[in-house]
Amino acid sequence: MKFSELLKESAYINGQWVDAKCGGKMEVINPADGSYIASVPDLDVDDAKNAIAAAEVAFHSWKKTTAKARAAILRRWFDLITENADVLAELLTKEQGKPLREAKGEVLSCASFFEWFGEEAKRTYGENIPSNMGSTRLLTIKQPIGVVTAITPWNFPISMIARKAAPAIAAGCTIVIKPAEDTPLCALALAALAEEAGVPAGVINVVTTKRPIEVGRELCTNPIVKKVSFTGSTPVGKIILGMAAETVKKASMELGGNAPFIVFDDADLESAVAGAIASKYRNAGQTCICTNRFYIQAGIYDAFATRFKEEVEKLALGSGFDSSTDIGPLINNAAVDKIDGLVQRAVQEGAELKVGGQRDAAGERFYQPTLLANVTDEMEISQAELFGPISTLFSFEDEAEVIERANNTPFGLAAYVYTRDIGRVWRVSEDLEYGMVGVNEGLISNELAPFGGVKESGVGREGSKHGMDDYMELKYICMGGI
Ligand code: ADP
Repeated sequence: MKFSELLKESAYINGQWVDAKCGGKMEVINPADGSYIASVPDLDVDDAKNAIAAAEVAFHSWKKTTAKARAAILRRWFDLITENADVLAELLTKEQGKPLREAKGEVLSCASFFEWFGEEAKRTYGENIPSNMGSTRLLTIKQPIGVVTAITPWNFPISMIARKAAPAIAAGCTIVIKPAEDTPLCALALAALAEEAGVPAGVINVVTTKRPIEVGRELCTNPIVKKVSFTGSTPVGKIILGMAAETVKKASMELGGNAPFIVFDDADLESAVAGAIASKYRNAGQTCICTNRFYIQAGIYDAFATRFKEEVEKLALGSGFDSSTDIGPLINNAAVDKIDGLVQRAVQEGAELKVGGQRDAAGERFYQPTLLANVTDEMEISQAELFGPISTLFSFEDEAEVIERANNTPFGLAAYVYTRDIGRVWRVSEDLEYGMVGVNEGLISNELAPFGGVKESGVGREGSKHGMDDYMELKYICMGGI
């Protein structure tokens, strides 16, 4: 499809492309230069109610389809996303800013969730449980939860939707999606491809709005909705969990992180530096699993700092459409102000600025890749979720100390450890209070493995064979009179 065919300026409810009743719109801008891209409807609470009602009607028939039929549609959707990957990546870079090659990677990752969950749909097996009585037989079946609402962020505007829509629809649920205000276009493009793939009316709905609080409340409290799936910040996640609790809805929460990246003296230095760059600087540091704190053992600290600095200095800042770009703009001005404040205060508190540390002439939303050394646990920056291209280096002496410091946060999403000692790999992986651990590896996210956090980083897992369970209820049936 052409770019113009995938650039949708209407929301998608019950298989129809709809506008706001009073004509309200919200503009989408390119964060690289502030230029106008398109306008989408600013829908209200009534529109959200309509979308939920449409999803409920569609659920009655969608839940009755066979897993094989759902899998065939998800496979067509996967094929269409893959065929249109270049156009989708262009749209993604335009509205979100990330380098085009990363955008293409995200689109292919998005597609992979439709392929995977289409396949998994056929394997949602129940159980036959040996009974405690001769006259009964005990068994379980798995059934779709019902109408699901999804509230998604701007940092991965297409793949975060896929992680929710793919398992939900594969399981037999229907879904209403509210994309982030800054990045609604990828969500609408995905809905256009769903329509093309044969997803029936009402099974997927996209509600664009610039009123996340009112519309979000409806999506999280409407009694028809049986499950809420959210990816975003921990403070908003807590509000959403609270709202979902009013009617005891199921909830999946992918929230903030404060990822430690631990390098022991015996690590392979080059591989640790490469993993550090990959885990920290992709998407300009705006991912919830990006490294937030680099803990480097004293014996390798200077060598690591020197080599890491050389690599950070090579990172090129610019438009995502420039093929040499490694770091695009941040999503908005508030994001730049936030990280600049953190960096300046860290320097005042005694951190050593090795690279960057300021806004860049490339444009008002560009912040230079930054490296701060000699950071301590007492500084404000050690506890903040950075969400920007800033690295902070801390020094440590021994294993027990670093585990305690790494765990000393309310968050527990991803952690990374570099060492060649096999015993230490096990001890540290087990002792880190995190949902995911990268061992000698900085890129860990894919559709095959369970993604999710512990502590205040979330509830539930996305991807993998476990990801479907978040969208299914387990029903126990006791058959008597045998
Ligand atoms: P980020 O820091 O990534 O912008 P947010 O948690 O602020 O993360 O936003 C993630 C998503 O949550 C967005 O779609 C946003 O519109 C939505 N959102 C923000 N505030 C609320 C709220 N009070 N209720 C429901 N959704 C909200």
